Amino acid sequence: MPEIEIPEPSPRDTTTLFKLRPRQCRYVISDDGTEAVFCGATAPEGSSWCPWHKQLVYVKPQARSGR
Ligand SMILES: [Zn+2]
Repeated sequence: MPEIEIPEPSPRDTTTLFKLRPRQCRYVISDDGTEAVFCGATAPEGSSWCPWHKQLVYVKPQARSGR
């Protein structure tokens, strides 16, 4: 378990593909079939996701259910 607590990104940062910038989190939080909505929170240099979604992307399924 990570000991550093990462704050959940604000829903107000959400953006669409056309507005998405290189340093914004590209985790798709909603996709209704016509337009994907991305997280849009600030992502670290060289990363495609904000710290919050990076931990979600990299978490291993076995580690989550191993209680
Ligand atoms: Zn994110």
